[in-house]
Order: sequence, then structure tokens, then C-alpha cells
Amino acid sequence: MPHIATSDGRQPWRATVLTLFPDMFPGPLGVSLAGQALEAGIWTLSTVFLREFGLGRHRAVDDTPAGGGAGMVMRADVLAAAIDHARAAEPDAPLIYLSPRGEPFNQHIARELSSGPGVLLLAGRFEGVDERVIEGRAMREISIGDYVLSGGELPAMVLIDACVRLLPGVIGAAESLGEESFEQGLLEYPQYTKPRDWEGRPIPEVLLSGDHKKIAEWRRAAALRLTAERRPDLAAPAGRSPQARAKDKR
Ligand code: SAM
Repeated sequence: MPHIATSDGRQPWRATVLTLFPDMFPGPLGVSLAGQALEAGIWTLSTVFLREFGLGRHRAVDDTPAGGGAGMVMRADVLAAAIDHARAAEPDAPLIYLSPRGEPFNQHIARELSSGPGVLLLAGRFEGVDERVIEGRAMREISIGDYVLSGGELPAMVLIDACVRLLPGVIGAAESLGEESFEQGLLEYPQYTKPRDWEGRPIPEVLLSGDHKKIAEWRRAAALRLTAERRPDLAAPAGRSPQARAKDKR
């Protein structure tokens, strides 16, 4: 299938979601930043309705778990047919199964995926999917956190949103992305806006000083302090980025 280029000649980033609930999309991805970018053709979204690949009169996509137990499992043969269909249109996009057992999603993975052609996402339901299709189609498993949701659609939206906001042209000031939480191995510094004094809580004086060097120093110190307090696992001893830390080790 030929892919249409954006007005500046770039290929749009393409997200394809294999799901039993295509009506859930674009959902929240159709509004605000992601929605505007979708409308502008910076990225595209398509769904593959798993039921269309289901078996028999009822278009069954699931069956009872081998070995017994509660719930149903999505069939490998049905999923493989849907994946192969989607793959034909998207030969290069990484194939990802959203799964609580997967590698934890983070900003680093969002950057990696947003710099590629797009993503092919399988949203599971029921008790999950037959292990053989995960192996047989070499799927990468990604989790959005240590909790269990009822389906992979919300995780797919989370992953897509995190990637889309990193695409060129989606967020106006590229610098603002560089200072966001996790970008430099730090949480973001506190933000303030008008009014200058709210319920007896003034904006820190330095932020109103107009001294950009001092403001940058204050923000860095605040980011370091917050990260050390809340996410010591992220913070390097001197708040150095993961890249800088990796260099230190060499
Ligand atoms: N029985 C599975 C387990 O214990 O790992 C949970 C299945 S869950 C009810 C149904 C589907 O929701 C999964 O196949 C997956 O696609 C999605 N899902 C649930 N929690 C998730 C998470 N934290 N991250 C990514 N996907 C998740």
C-alpha cells in the first residue's frame, strides 16, 4: 500500500492496532495534540478488527485454556491471520503485544519507537493470547505498568500518545521536550504561572527575576532534589543523564 507523505515530504508515522474493539479508537488520541497531529497527517491510525479473522458462525477468536482454569485465551491461528494481514501493509513496523508481562514502557522506548516507521500493536483481551503466536510472530512484549487492565486498548493508546508527542512538528518548542520528566534522567522541576501570589503561596522569587542563568540553576537544583526524593532509582549521583553515566562506566 503506498504511504502518503506529509506536506513537508515526510512519511507519516503509522500506528496500526489489532483489536476486538476498533470503536475505541481514536478515542482520546483524536483530541488535543495527538488529534491535531492526526488531522495534519503527521501520523496515521488504523485498526484491524480481530473478529473478522474469527472462526465459524460466531467468528470465535478465543477458546478455553489448555490445562484448564478460568477465562478464555485468544487463539494463535486467528491472531496469526490478523497479524499477517496487517504485516502485509506494514512490513517494517515493529510488532508489539501489550502485556503485563512485557518490558516496562518508558520514555527511552517511546523515543526509540517514535523514530521508526510506526508500530503494529496487538491489544489482548480475556486471559491473554496463546504463547505460540507470541513466539511464532516474534512479538516484543511491552507493559505499561505493574497492574492488570481488562484489555490492551488503553495500553496501546498510552504507547501511541507517548510516541506521537515526540514526532517532529507535534509540539511547538522542541526545547520544552528536552526538559520534560525522564528526558535527562530527572523528573521535571516545579512549574508556576499567574497569579503571582495564590492563597499566600508566592511564586519563587528567582523565577520572576529575569536572570536566565539563575533560573536555569534553580530549575536544575529543583529537578535534582525532586528526583532524589521521589525517584532515587532515576537520579545519578550528580543528576547526570543515563547517557553520561554510561560514558562514565567506559
Ligand atoms: N492473564 C494476564 C496476566 O495475568 O498477565 C492478563 C490479561 S489482561 C486481563 C487482558 C489483556 O489486557 C492482556 O492480554 C493485555 O493485552 C492487556 N493488558 C492488561 N494489563 C496490561 C498492562 N499493564 N500493560 C500492557 N497490557 C496490559
